[in-house]
Amino acid sequence: MRLTGLGVSPGIGVGKALVLRRGARDFRFRIPPARVEREIELLAEARQRSREQLQQIRQRIAASAGAEHAYLFDAQLLMLDDAMLIDRAVEIIRTEQLNAGSALERAFSEISALFDQGEDAYLKERQGDVGDVVGRLCMNLRTGGDPLEQFKDLDGPLVLVADELTPSVIAQLDWQRFSAFLTDGGSWTYHTAILARSIHVPAVAGLRNASTVIAPGAVVAVDGASGEVFVDPDPATLEHIRARQQRREKFEQSLDEYRRLPPVTEDGIQIRLEANVESPDDAMRAREAGAEGIGLFRSEFLLAWGGQDALTEETQFAAYTRLVESMAPGRVTIRTFDVSEGQLQHPDADGARAPLGLRGVRLSLARDDVFQAQLRALLRAAAFGPLRIMFPFVSGAEELKDARAAVIRAAETLRARGIGVPPVPIGVMIEVPSAAVTSDLLAEYADFFSIGTNDLIQYCLAVDRTDDRVSNLYEPLHPAIVRTLRLVARAARRRGIPVSVCGEMAADPIILTLLVGLGLTEFSMAPTAVPLAKQALRGLSAAEATRVAARALRARTATEVETLLAEFMTSRTKVGPRL
Ligand code: PEP
Ligand code: MG
Repeated sequence: MRLTGLGVSPGIGVGKALVLRRGARDFRFRIPPARVEREIELLAEARQRSREQLQQIRQRIAASAGAEHAYLFDAQLLMLDDAMLIDRAVEIIRTEQLNAGSALERAFSEISALFDQGEDAYLKERQGDVGDVVGRLCMNLRTGGDPLEQFKDLDGPLVLVADELTPSVIAQLDWQRFSAFLTDGGSWTYHTAILARSIHVPAVAGLRNASTVIAPGAVVAVDGASGEVFVDPDPATLEHIRARQQRREKFEQSLDEYRRLPPVTEDGIQIRLEANVESPDDAMRAREAGAEGIGLFRSEFLLAWGGQDALTEETQFAAYTRLVESMAPGRVTIRTFDVSEGQLQHPDADGARAPLGLRGVRLSLARDDVFQAQLRALLRAAAFGPLRIMFPFVSGAEELKDARAAVIRAAETLRARGIGVPPVPIGVMIEVPSAAVTSDLLAEYADFFSIGTNDLIQYCLAVDRTDDRVSNLYEPLHPAIVRTLRLVARAARRRGIPVSVCGEMAADPIILTLLVGLGLTEFSMAPTAVPLAKQALRGLSAAEATRVAARALRARTATEVETLLAEFMTSRTKVGPRL
């Protein structure tokens, strides 16, 4: 079987499928023979817990609403002993070596198929009850231990196949064991995709039904550049894939020499290349890739790695200090939390941060306790190396002024504690269209800008960046985006403040040409993208890029801009595929 999605993290990965559904609440995988009896025991334990819970519920209902209303739970209790469900699940565990959760789901789908054939309305209703019991059993299988512990003893590299995959689930994984990630939804700027590129795990998103059609344990070969996924590939296909892998490795090695070279254009324009990172331990990877600093640290990932503990001043202080010290003398730009309210409590909440709601700097301003703790931690860490603070999701000057006032208050609190605070540049992400349009006004209150094109494109073009079904409309080269970038670059230049681009757009060497042509000279991208960007920049004439950008600004469509850039590139350089 061959599936095609969006290649969002290049590289080749081959492994056995581990299927994860319903936001990691449901794992499906093949177990080694030695684990069969343990899996049957786990099912028995889950049945016991379910029985106790149902008995309690039954008693409560009988006491409050009368015995006649409790019959439903009698039926559910009987289902816990039903041969078609339980004995069949045990048989599936034994014969197909599937984990208990998958075996239960399989037995349930067989029962459902039988119910569906019948005409009996009563029986059809019972199908819902069986589903309820299966849900309870699966829940109790999970609460039997850490769900991620379940597959610790599986051998071989694994390919994670998920309906949706949040960064916090990835954060809990030992990702060395995963040769690829596949998701039913998502697209290039989906945070999970960004993280996959960052940790160098090949990934394909937008596969629609991969988590349903790929059987647990199937061998899966993934090309994270082309978006192709081969399930149980024949030997010839596997060989072909391995050959691609070798070509890719060779290509990456060919870029190694660029890591140490400065990113300067052919005609001598100095460019600053920094890295986007999600963990305080990533500074080393940024350095190795040849980045001069950290242009974007997504601090909200601290919540994904460390949960609630990450909200405390001390935990954050330790994390920021580690990052700053390991990057010094390179500078580090730390973005304050860009999450929605629910995610402050649970990094997994709602899957995504509220796209238009209380998130980013709005939430920080609404949650002064959280904001002040973060600002104090940042200001203290600034004593250990060059640090800049950046606010996400700012929509206008008023918000920025309020956020700056919050920094002053945090500094005063620290001084009252006897802690000195060095001057710290305060910048703003330009990622909301209103911020871009009023960037001349924002420039009065900002020490620097960083253009977050991932969100800027999403909001300018009204295209959900996480939705694969509209990813064809997510056009970084849309004339609206090209013009907006010029507007922001000019506003920064007039005010004499630095401006960088930290969205994924900068990681594409072809687009990088346009950005340089628009007068932008600072970029931040995933560490893996840095060597290729250096190669592209060193082969580029900024003067020629300026001429191409002038033509791009007159183009009417994204396709026209793309054609202009493609013609320019083929006439000049030998840039390879994007990393
Ligand atoms: C952006 O929006 O471009 C950005 C860099 O931030 P994030 O991807 O975290 O939204
Ligand atoms: Mg953003």
